[in-house]
Amino acid sequence: MKEKLKVNMDGKICLVTGGTNGIGKATAQALAQMGATVVIVGRDPAKCAAVVDEIKQISDNDAVDALIADLSIMAEVRQVADQFKAKYQKLHVLVNNAGAAFWKREVTSEGFEKTFALNHLNYFLLTNLLLDTLKASAPARIVNVSSDAHKGAHLDFDDLQSEKVSLAYGRSKLANVLFSYELARRLSGTSVTANVLHPGWVRTGFASNLGAVPSAALGFFMRFVGLTPEQGAQTSVYLATSPDVENVTGKYWEKSKAVPSGHTSYDETTWARLWEVSDKMVAASVAAR
Ligand code: NAD
Repeated sequence: MKEKLKVNMDGKICLVTGGTNGIGKATAQALAQMGATVVIVGRDPAKCAAVVDEIKQISDNDAVDALIADLSIMAEVRQVADQFKAKYQKLHVLVNNAGAAFWKREVTSEGFEKTFALNHLNYFLLTNLLLDTLKASAPARIVNVSSDAHKGAHLDFDDLQSEKVSLAYGRSKLANVLFSYELARRLSGTSVTANVLHPGWVRTGFASNLGAVPSAALGFFMRFVGLTPEQGAQTSVYLATSPDVENVTGKYWEKSKAVPSGHTSYDETTWARLWEVSDKMVAASVAAR
């Protein structure tokens, strides 16, 4: 029997998006090692199956499962939420982690700029679709993986699709912070918490969509200063499991400490506006089908 990490998560059900690589995989593994039932979401069925086997073996926990979806496509986000609910009655921890930066502007088959769709609309829609299950499972926690790259970003509501300026990644990570703060506000009094974090700079597959030269440059830099995925997962795991933060909500975290987020993230009007606009965008993705 492999030694379990110190928080006991027996009986808890956790969903981790982007659980096949990097920070998400390390998060899923740590949660499984604590005894939780862990469901990862990934795009590639073969990779998901291999990661599920690996986590089962390392954690000595057979309650590891995978659901398949391209989370930049809202129809697939809906499908994965339905599949999760069909199989599991409870959800105690949702870790919205899947994310990427793209070198060139891409548009999804639903007409959304891909970074905004994957990094923000996916978090927004998946969370909202699972909110009834989270509330019914309370106490429950939502952990949103953002980035320090949100600092200095400014959300331009006239250019959410980054048609004018290519600053999609920083903006999408600012959207994670704004969404988390508004979510926490809406969830007040429910025993479902929502927190958002910067994982640190971590050696993962993150740079792989940035093109050969930026990817190699970032990879070189990360070799010297980057954290391991396990170190990068520590704040996610802390927020997902620690009794210290059971009732803490609406905070931005780094190195398992609440710290201030960027100054553009504190405007409550912007939180509400982003919520409303995102809601319309995901609703339009259904109407367009
Ligand atoms: P990674 O590329 O190693 O892992 C990303 C995960 O997301 C993978 O499992 C990938 O399969 C999944 N994913 C990507 N596109 C997807 C899609 N369309 N549908 C479903 N899944 C998809 O990168 P990572 O560094 O582990 O990134 C995890 C999170 O951490 C991201 O939200 C990223 O913005 C954030 N982050 C990373 C760093 C860093 O230094 N690595 C720094 C700050 C924030």
